[in-house]
Amino acid sequence: MDRAVAGKVLKALAKAYPDAGCELDFQNPFELLVATILSAQCTDRRVNEVTPSLFRRYPSVAVLAAADLDELEQLIRPTGFFRAKSRSLMGCALAIVERHGGQVPGSMQELVELPGVGRKTANVVLSHAFARHEGIAVDTHVLRVANRIGLVQAADAAGVENDLVALFPRSRWGQLSDLLIIHGRRTCTARRPACAACPVVRFCRFTGKDGPPAAGR
Ligand code: SF4
Repeated sequence: MDRAVAGKVLKALAKAYPDAGCELDFQNPFELLVATILSAQCTDRRVNEVTPSLFRRYPSVAVLAAADLDELEQLIRPTGFFRAKSRSLMGCALAIVERHGGQVPGSMQELVELPGVGRKTANVVLSHAFARHEGIAVDTHVLRVANRIGLVQAADAAGVENDLVALFPRSRWGQLSDLLIIHGRRTCTARRPACAACPVVRFCRFTGKDGPPAAGR
């Protein structure tokens, strides 16, 4: 897809989803980092139910770094994979205390060097907590939707991110990720994409000529 058409896709999505944005509740970079780690394999709504009591118990990176592991596990248990997530949270908090004086760092390089933090998490934190765009957060929705529409042709998150950053201006990277995620959640769902009600149906490479895409494609 060329940049002019890609720009039209972005514009149509922005018009359809004026409320697009980060759906995790947070007050600062620390809270967003924790919430994003918890959101793996879990809905944002469930994470938002857990984090108020979590942040009351652990109001800073330093307090989290000194947490009792069993207590932390019980607090985040509803988000699933609680043992692995607890270890990630504590390892991450300890590294931030040791390497960054307890302040969440604001660069991709520093973030991805933290235990349990990959590019997707780092991109979410940079975009929403620091208003910095060093890449594009690619989750399962972005991967699926960007391929369906035809913005990219890539099988993995790294390939999708590479193609998208080449297609859109940096100033739009954060917005684009938010829009593709919300479009994937509300309309272009994995199993039953609502193509008849889709705001970008005229650009989508699957519809019109091929009909709706196969489930999960
Ligand atoms: S037309 Fe269908 S497959 Fe294409 S983006 Fe819209 S909902 Fe997804």
